[in-house]
Amino acid sequence: MSIASLFDLRGKVALVTGPSRGIGAAAAEILAEAGANILLLGRQMQALQQQAERLTQLGVGTRCIRCDVGNPNQVCDAAHQALAAFGHVDILVNNAGIIRRAPAAEYLLEDWQTVLDTNLTGAFLLTQQIGKAMVERGAGKIINIASLLSFSGGMNVVAYTASKSALAGITRAFANEWGKHGVNVNAIAPGYIRTQATAALQNDPQRYQALLSRIPAGRWGEPEDLKGPILFLASAASNYVNGHILTVDGGWMAA
Ligand code: NDP
Repeated sequence: MSIASLFDLRGKVALVTGPSRGIGAAAAEILAEAGANILLLGRQMQALQQQAERLTQLGVGTRCIRCDVGNPNQVCDAAHQALAAFGHVDILVNNAGIIRRAPAAEYLLEDWQTVLDTNLTGAFLLTQQIGKAMVERGAGKIINIASLLSFSGGMNVVAYTASKSALAGITRAFANEWGKHGVNVNAIAPGYIRTQATAALQNDPQRYQALLSRIPAGRWGEPEDLKGPILFLASAASNYVNGHILTVDGGWMAA
């Protein structure tokens, strides 16, 4: 296979959750740049439509699907809409996610539930619903956006840590069951990336510097830094990669 064809996604259909900004926006952009039609799934229709307009300029088809991934009924409806929009889905990026901070001893059950529903159950249901159709077709790529907290505990983010650790677990579980059906299920664990989700850390000069000093690359990551790894896991270049959690962290985990 030529280099170009290894990464060619022309005619493919990719579903990205939370594509309006940050890492999800970068994922939708690189998949569209490689030629895939994009299904944009999220809570805020206006933000999805603005992003869809940008992607259309790249010459690909787009559809917006309103869905709160923390609501199982909405997720199941959205999965049906996604499969119907272009007839099938080749690539699923489970990116939508939230973080709520409080000491573990005081963590509210309501926050625990909302974080788990959004980061874990939403990804589980979409993987199940969209992935089943991939298994029937004998091909598909699923990419879960995990975290460094898939490997370590963190501070004041107990529900987030639980959700991302379990997301790494279900990545391996689905990969194990579906590998023989031509469906690759992998995850990316980003390090500290400059997005809205990390605004509080970025705006705290002491925390920002403390984190920066531990990153071997000597800088925080940008959403753009995720583009290559996402394209790799979405394309034929990674056909024999399955159940892997790829850290994209400027070397944090190696330090
Ligand atoms: P942002 O907050 O910038 O973007 C999150 C996206 O997810 C938004 O589009 C948001 O849309 C959407 N979203 C949130 N909740 C829901 C929901 N219930 N239903 C549908 N869409 C939803 O975050 P990042 O880009 O930083 O994060 C993306 C992913 O990467 C997350 O899973 C996060 O945990 C993970 N990650 C991020 C890291 C970082 O350093 N930034 C590090 C490690 C992992 P809306 O406008 O509706 O809120």
